[in-house]
Order: sequence, then structure tokens, then C-alpha cells
Amino acid sequence: MIITVTGAAGQIGYALLFRIASGAMLGPEVPVSLRLLELPQALEAAEGVAMELDDCAFPLLRDIEITDDAAAAFDGANVALLVGSRPRAAGMERADLLSANGAIFAPQGRAINDNAADDVRVLVVGNPANTNALIASAHAPDVPAERFTAMTRLDHNRALAQLSGATGAPVSAISRLTIWGNHSSTQYPDLSHARIEGEPFEIDRGWVEQDFIPTVATRGAAIIAARGSSSAASAASAAVDHVHDWVLGTPVDDWTSAGVVSTGEYGVPAGLVSSFPVTSTGGRWTIVEGLEIDEFSRARIDASTAELAEERAAVEALGLL
Ligand code: NDP
Repeated sequence: MIITVTGAAGQIGYALLFRIASGAMLGPEVPVSLRLLELPQALEAAEGVAMELDDCAFPLLRDIEITDDAAAAFDGANVALLVGSRPRAAGMERADLLSANGAIFAPQGRAINDNAADDVRVLVVGNPANTNALIASAHAPDVPAERFTAMTRLDHNRALAQLSGATGAPVSAISRLTIWGNHSSTQYPDLSHARIEGEPFEIDRGWVEQDFIPTVATRGAAIIAARGSSSAASAASAAVDHVHDWVLGTPVDDWTSAGVVSTGEYGVPAGLVSSFPVTSTGGRWTIVEGLEIDEFSRARIDASTAELAEERAAVEALGLL
């Protein structure tokens, strides 16, 4: 399989590439060819990462190509991990951030459209991930919109870890947890359908509302405060989990969370890339339907999807869709 990683010389790239090459993402039977896309000024650093990948002598790693040309990087790609993006600088307005990222994700969408394999699956990690996925998809008319996804798996994994810590249940015993909406502080981590050992459980509402939800939603900032730089290994691990489950399937009786294009499920406006509870079989995400949404959840989902709709309106106004 050909795997393209953008922003390959960055922090997340450094944590991600070794996991892919080891077989953690696609399993121990699938050889991988890596295509690393970087900005011209970061090509040398990417060469250094490739040298280290060589030095690991991973049995599954076929070859590595490094380029600053998107057409070459996405040529024949089966999986594209769009990690490189323009981070928010101090004093930057939202329109400037969206427009800077539009300049990255619109041409990458076109390059995927024109060069990737017919079965290409795209995961956007670079923020604002949901709207960047929307922009890339809009510029890839020949690729089904459902193949462009945004990462909320790190939020999902953070929620699993928090619930495990609070209840003492191992993460492996927890199922049916959901992240709804945008990968931003408005996201809604939802425990209302969660199970422990396959059973519903009682949990203190005060803890959910005052501790669990804000802790999950602001975990990224807490990690920057503690580590002095942003989460990278956990973001890479979540990207590996997302693609693993997309290609190889989700466990029976469980689901995960991913930003996928809405066709109006749960009142989320059609066309937005929003996080939903999803299962995967046969290499396709399916939104879990029919869940009961209480008043509290409804308000949270609506607030986060309203933010996504605003981002969409802003990029439309900038001519990026
Ligand atoms: P990181 O590798 O740390 O992060 C990459 C992107 O992932 C950031 O935009 C970041 O957004 C986002 N991200 C999403 N979820 C998380 C998370 N949970 N924790 C942290 N980050 C998250 O950034 P670096 O600056 O180290 O590296 C970026 C690389 O991308 C550079 O080497 C640069 O040259 C390259 N680049 C490549 C492009 C291309 O190939 N065309 C275009 C632009 C950049 P946020 O910071 O908002 O959290």
C-alpha cells in the first residue's frame, strides 16, 4: 500500500511514520511504501527522518520517497494522512487561519483527485481538521466525499482514558463512547450510551458536566502546559487507530468516533464534516443511527455543529469551496 504523509518532518510525523512502517496501522502482513510531502525548507529534516526509518530495518517498509511536489506525493496513494497545516499564530484572525489552510488543503485535494489510487482514503489531522477535510474534498470532485475524514479519535481516546481513570474499569472494558461535532473546544464527548463490560452504568452527572467534558475538550492545552509542546505521540497513535479501524473494521458491539461527511444524520447539516459514532466494515464508515439524544446532548451537538457551519460559511465566503 502507498501511504502519503504530509508535514512528515513535524512532531506528529516523527511519531507517526515509525508506527506505520512497523505495521501497527495496516497489520503485520501489509508492506508499505511511504511518500513524504514537506515544504521545501523542511525537506532536509524529512531526509533525516527517512534515514532513521531505514535504520529501523522494518521488514514491512518497501521504500520511502520525499518530495515537495503534491502530485508526486499523492501518486497512487491508497491512504493519505494530511498532517501538515498552518497553526494559529498569536494575533491571527480566524479568517486568516482558514485562508492560510485553504491554500494548503485546496491544492492537496486537487492533487489527490488527479493522482491518488481509486480507493484512496484520506484522514485530515492538521487543524482546523474538519474544515480542512471539507476544503480538500471540495477540490476532489472525482473522489467520493465519504473518503475524506477528520480526526476526532484522539478526543475519543482521551475520553476513554478519563472514564477509565474515574471508574477503574480498563479501557478495554469500555465501549460505545462518542465524540460529536468539531475537533475543537466545542466538541461533545458523550457518555450517555457508553457501557462498561457491555452494560450501562451509573455515573455522577456533576462529574460528567464539570470534570469529564471540559477535561477531554481542553486536554491539548493541558499537555502543552505540562510538556512544553503539543501532543504528538498521542495524536499519531490516534491517526494509526483511525486508519486501522477504517481499513480493518471496528469491533463487534462497539463503535468509535470519526469526522465524516454528514448526510443529515442527527440533525447535523448535510455536507459538514462532523464527528459521529461510526462503525466500519468492508473499508467503509457507517454512522450509527437511532441513538436517543437527550436535551443536554442535543444542545451540545447543536452548539458544536453550529461552529462547523460558521467555519463552512467563512471558507465559502473566502471562495475556498
Ligand atoms: P505537528 O506535527 O505537531 O502538528 C501538525 C498539525 O497537526 C498541526 O496543524 C496541529 O494543529 C495538528 N494537530 C491535530 N491534532 C493535534 C493534537 N492533538 N496535538 C497536536 N497537534 C495536533 O506540527 P509541526 O509544526 O511539528 O509540524 C508541521 C509540519 O508540517 C512542518 O514540518 C511543516 O513544514 C509541515 N507542513 C507541510 C505542508 C505540506 O506538506 N504542504 C504544509 C504546511 C506545513 P494545532 O497546532 O492547531 O493543534
